[in-house]
Amino acid sequence: MSVLLKDIIASIQADINFDTVSETINTISIDSRSSQNNEKTLFFALVGPNHDAHIYIEELINKGIRYFVVNHVPQELESKANFLLVEDTLKALQDFASYYRSLFHFPVIGITGSNGKTIVKEWLNFLLAPDYNVIRSPKSYNSQVGVPLSVIGINEHHNFGIFEAGISTVGEMSHLQQIIKPTIGILTNIGSAHDEGFDNISQKIKEKLRLFTEVEVLILNKNKTIEAFLNKNIKTFTWSTQDRNADVFFQKNTYEDYSELNITYNQLCFKVNIPFTDEASLENVMHCVLTLLYLKYSQETIQERIAELYPVEMRLKVKNGSNNCTLIDDSYSSDFQSLKIALDFLENQNQHKKRALILSDIFQSGLSDEELYSRVSQLIISHKINRVFCIGETVSKFKNKFLNAVSFQTTEDFIKAFEDLNFANETILIKGSRQFEFENIVSLLEEKTHETVLEINLNAISHNLNYFKSKLNPKTKLMVMVKAFGYGSGSYEIAKLLAHHKVDYLGVAFADEGIELCKAGIELPIMVMNPEMTSFQSIIQYGLEPEIYSFRGLKAFLKIAEEKKLENYPIHIKINTGMNRLGFDTEMLPELVEILSHSKRVTIKSILSHLASSDVPEHKDFTLQQITDFDNDSTYLMKGLNINPIRHICNTSGISNYPGAQFDMVRLGIGLYGVSNESHEQSKLEHVGTLKSVISQIRTIEIGESVSYVRRFIATRKTKVATIPIGYADGISRLWGSGVGYVLVNNKKAPILGSICMDMLMVDVTDINCFEGGEVIIFGKDPSVNDIAKATNTIPYEILTSISARVKRVFYRE
Ligand SMILES: *Cc1c(COP(=O)(O)O)cnc(C)c1O
Repeated sequence: MSVLLKDIIASIQADINFDTVSETINTISIDSRSSQNNEKTLFFALVGPNHDAHIYIEELINKGIRYFVVNHVPQELESKANFLLVEDTLKALQDFASYYRSLFHFPVIGITGSNGKTIVKEWLNFLLAPDYNVIRSPKSYNSQVGVPLSVIGINEHHNFGIFEAGISTVGEMSHLQQIIKPTIGILTNIGSAHDEGFDNISQKIKEKLRLFTEVEVLILNKNKTIEAFLNKNIKTFTWSTQDRNADVFFQKNTYEDYSELNITYNQLCFKVNIPFTDEASLENVMHCVLTLLYLKYSQETIQERIAELYPVEMRLKVKNGSNNCTLIDDSYSSDFQSLKIALDFLENQNQHKKRALILSDIFQSGLSDEELYSRVSQLIISHKINRVFCIGETVSKFKNKFLNAVSFQTTEDFIKAFEDLNFANETILIKGSRQFEFENIVSLLEEKTHETVLEINLNAISHNLNYFKSKLNPKTKLMVMVKAFGYGSGSYEIAKLLAHHKVDYLGVAFADEGIELCKAGIELPIMVMNPEMTSFQSIIQYGLEPEIYSFRGLKAFLKIAEEKKLENYPIHIKINTGMNRLGFDTEMLPELVEILSHSKRVTIKSILSHLASSDVPEHKDFTLQQITDFDNDSTYLMKGLNINPIRHICNTSGISNYPGAQFDMVRLGIGLYGVSNESHEQSKLEHVGTLKSVISQIRTIEIGESVSYVRRFIATRKTKVATIPIGYADGISRLWGSGVGYVLVNNKKAPILGSICMDMLMVDVTDINCFEGGEVIIFGKDPSVNDIAKATNTIPYEILTSISARVKRVFYRE
């Protein structure tokens, strides 16, 4: 894009602190981490309930960004950059997007509804791509922020738009309507998702329909309830599988692995085959068929293209590769917009110094090849990619634009040469459009482990972090506990995200955990809760901060500090207030003051204690006593030593149940990972980890036959049994077996049959439609970690941290 700054200023009605306005802006950014930020970027400092991007401005100015949309000018920066002052930076972003959209005049499809938006959008893009230069929302960018960013991606070569809009409460859709300005509307369906934001279903319907106030046609499933809410002058184009009065009537037949739709439309009667059998996919196809009919596509083209539809994978996945590589798998799309997103994602994963990109031809950018690949080359350079592998005829022609590029005509050629490419110790982004079948490359590069994975949703972690932040007083600092491999979820990835969110401290249990984080480039201060004396040397070497809880530890640390002539080395003093685990007792404090007042080697960064029972209401008096004792004991130390350290005592349930005990900092643990022992709070958290596996084998056994060791299960009916390659060595408690627990197969509960083995378990799939190789969910939303903990008489902490290291962790963002 290239827009005059003065037009932007007018469109968002900003006050400015500078006068040269003849300049142009070429990128809009809301992400401080994006390396596409440059001197022609306009950065919108968005503010949410729990985050405020104004904190990144100083850092961005140092990186050369000059233009900022702000709701206030941060202190002392006034003279250092150009500020566009507005009341509400999100509204400004939306207003600009709306202005920008109005510069273009071509058909635009706006899609909303409770389910299927993204899939319908992706499929329509696939169906229309041969005939149009389509711009579409990347991924599932359908929010108040995502929609403006999507629309801003339009360039002068596009001639068709497809954007999705998602809302969660009243009043949001009219903003999105203004930004998308759809000419064709699609309403996928109205389900019960996200109901919290609405008083009732009619309010929700009315709000969604606001997207369609100015469309020339609205495509929807014929439905009396919805039609009653529709403005009379909106023209509809409806389908149904029941009501013959609909404009298009579908009759469907489902077979083993495909379905057939018989379509009746006016005089036209024809059939399409679809490579899907589930209800939801069929509905999505119907919306696509109506769109094609409305756009006057021929019966033959519809049949041909619909038969080619494919499952949509929208997520960027981070995987472990062999030879210590990290893979970012985005092997299903290759448009320019999503390449930008993927490169930013790569930027944030800087675990390895070396970065490689495997890239196929890019389709439908709306640009000429020359211009497109010049832009790609700029991206590649600004993201410091060390080597590029071009696959495909077109991209290969431009390989000289990329530094250090190798080209291949086809994916097969690449695979033949694979052994000689020596991938090792690097982060590799795999980005290709579907027909290049880059999944074959991914499976070559992937570390060979068994097929069980723990998927970690990074968006959910951010959500949970922000939820707990919103409970804190503005001045309260936040330490996040990433001990025990981030409660089983992987510490580096999570620490990286926490660093971005600017938490104040990380907490680990042992020095080794902290050292790993340092080595991987985490710069946040790290407190080590249980530093063994043998690790003091390396603690100092890596600048970790030990928690000191005994005289023995203190004396040993002071001795080393003396030898190394350290000055004011930060330490943390732990006080025992009733947990009776680690810490100084009240009567030890005078001696502690005595010792510390004579040492300049260390400085007390913080004083802490730990609550033993903050999650149990019956122990409220005990907990309040702990808090009072902590207040007294820490005050004694502060007076005795004349210091003013950070004080902290609350863990997750302390934050929730004792808001008055935040002192100067809190220590968030399990809540970050989406687990609460309180049902109201649980409903506010997003679940982070999903443990998945696959079916290895299916067999049917007769009445009287048994399953697993010691024949603990005997069939009382003909039973279909599926074997899953996960067992107690992976962390699945045997108590969860023998009819107590279940897994989810095809969204249905499959009870565990007999004993759980070391590496496998068997489940009952008699009434479930499933196949060998099919996916199984061990835990996630259902069953939740809490459900399993209850049934096996333990706590969620133990379940999370028991998942063994051989289970691969895969991180993703939605
Ligand atoms: C683990 C731990 C926490 C975090 O506890 P959660 O209950 O997971 O929030 C806080 N402080 C200390 C000392 C811990 O060991």
